Amino acid sequence: MPKHFNTIKRLLSDDEKRERVLYYNELNDDLPMDVDEFIKNTVYDETVIMKCLKCGFQEEVDFDIISEFWSEFDSDYPVSYCGHCSKPKLVPLDIYNHIKHIK
Ligand SMILES: [Zn+2]
Repeated sequence: MPKHFNTIKRLLSDDEKRERVLYYNELNDDLPMDVDEFIKNTVYDETVIMKCLKCGFQEEVDFDIISEFWSEFDSDYPVSYCGHCSKPKLVPLDIYNHIKHIK
């Protein structure tokens, strides 16, 4: 977990894991995964609540997507484009609260 903001971790159910591995196998039929082996694993979904400093628009984003354009070695927190006002002002909710002085 990055140190400057929180992420939300949710444990996947066996059904969700099965769905995911079947979908993966559809896309990778040359190298499919063993479904029962995969379901034995502990799998988390990790997301971040992002909020726009400009318009207050809020959305939950997969951490995988965030880590594609941001690394915690580059900066303290990711900044993304807002889906509502299109300004580059979307930051993690904890950072938003910090900047806006909300406790
Ligand atoms: Zn916005």
